[in-house]
Amino acid sequence: MRQFFTLFLFLLFLQAVQAQLPSKFQGQGSIKAVSTESRPVQRQWKGVFTFPRGDVQFCNQFPAARLNGLTQENDSVYSILITSENTPVNGSPWYAFKVWSKRPRTINIKLTYQQGASHRYNPKVSKNGRNWSAVNGERVKRADDTLSVAYQFRIEVSRDTTWVAAQELYTSADVYKWAAALGRKMSWPLSTIGETHWGRPVMLLKAGNLQSRNRVLIIGRQHPPEVTGQLAEQAFVERVAANDSLATAFRERFLLYVVPLMNPDGVDEGFWRHNAGGVDINRDWQAFHQPETRAMRSLLEKEITGAGNKLWFGLDFHSTHDDIFYIVDPALRGSLPGFIKDWLQAFQQRIPGYEPNIKPLYSEGPTSTSFSYLFKNYGTEALVYEIGDNTSREFIIQKSKVAAEAMMQLLLERVP
Ligand SMILES: [Zn+2]
Repeated sequence: MRQFFTLFLFLLFLQAVQAQLPSKFQGQGSIKAVSTESRPVQRQWKGVFTFPRGDVQFCNQFPAARLNGLTQENDSVYSILITSENTPVNGSPWYAFKVWSKRPRTINIKLTYQQGASHRYNPKVSKNGRNWSAVNGERVKRADDTLSVAYQFRIEVSRDTTWVAAQELYTSADVYKWAAALGRKMSWPLSTIGETHWGRPVMLLKAGNLQSRNRVLIIGRQHPPEVTGQLAEQAFVERVAANDSLATAFRERFLLYVVPLMNPDGVDEGFWRHNAGGVDINRDWQAFHQPETRAMRSLLEKEITGAGNKLWFGLDFHSTHDDIFYIVDPALRGSLPGFIKDWLQAFQQRIPGYEPNIKPLYSEGPTSTSFSYLFKNYGTEALVYEIGDNTSREFIIQKSKVAAEAMMQLLLERVP
């Protein structure tokens, strides 16, 4: 009896210890694709918002802007409504707008979202749309509020424009400028693989040896607000472009297909999640109903694979609440057994104190996501590279360098 009591006390103690450990980000649950194709996408009214009282003005007339409604509560409080492109939608309320005032003053801004969506991104401000700093505010929820959890903050405004956004603004023009500059420097061809619903190009940068049959695929930004994933992706590709012996050897033996931005409509329209067809394109890799995923499928079938070409590794860059890697069930065998495990271990070895958060997210069933499609159809070692919304921008770069170096070393060693 006494032994039982001791055991009971010990179990209680264990529970108390566990409760105090910082909990690791659990990642998302199993993937379920919800069809939203029949839900029309709402266009955003664009222009300058003015008020009878005061001289503060807001504007959403620029790429990636999102500001759907605005009311002035009193002389210094403005309430902003942010809604999604259509519903149901993953609750990632993106917003971006400009504000100015004839006379310098302090204003309070309340962000409110459509019902069911909660606040995800704390605001950042900029005076030039390039350099951003975080603003502190607080979450608010009024008892009488029919809208979802809101966020309230205070900023100084003046004649000079102040930019406010959920993350640093990084539009399709910025991405393609980056790709074109890198392409020119490295003599890497930049081409178009297709067009979006609203006629924007989906661009492809081919990096490395154009004659090589050994291929790697990098895709990014299927989800518009995921700027940190974009930053990680670009730093990764830049490491492959570096002027050292490892990168040079890799570029001689491999050909890297980079589709840096899969959803330019969503990015430039300030969408929360979907493309202009109203669909989460990273749930469309089974149905292939959308122009962006169809262009990718055709590129894979006609060019990247087949005729003796082999796609060895595929990375899909995203952002979420915290850094995590979504992988294929390690029990399933791909083209390079052990590659993913060893690649993930490299992070631990090369970044002191860092332990990658890893979650298997595909074992069988429909391949609605890119990485599961690559694995199931081509045996490609594939994963989702997720960066936290608030991961330090320096760490994103550091980690991408390690990721690219480990990939280059392992592929050079193991691909026959
Ligand atoms: Zn995503």
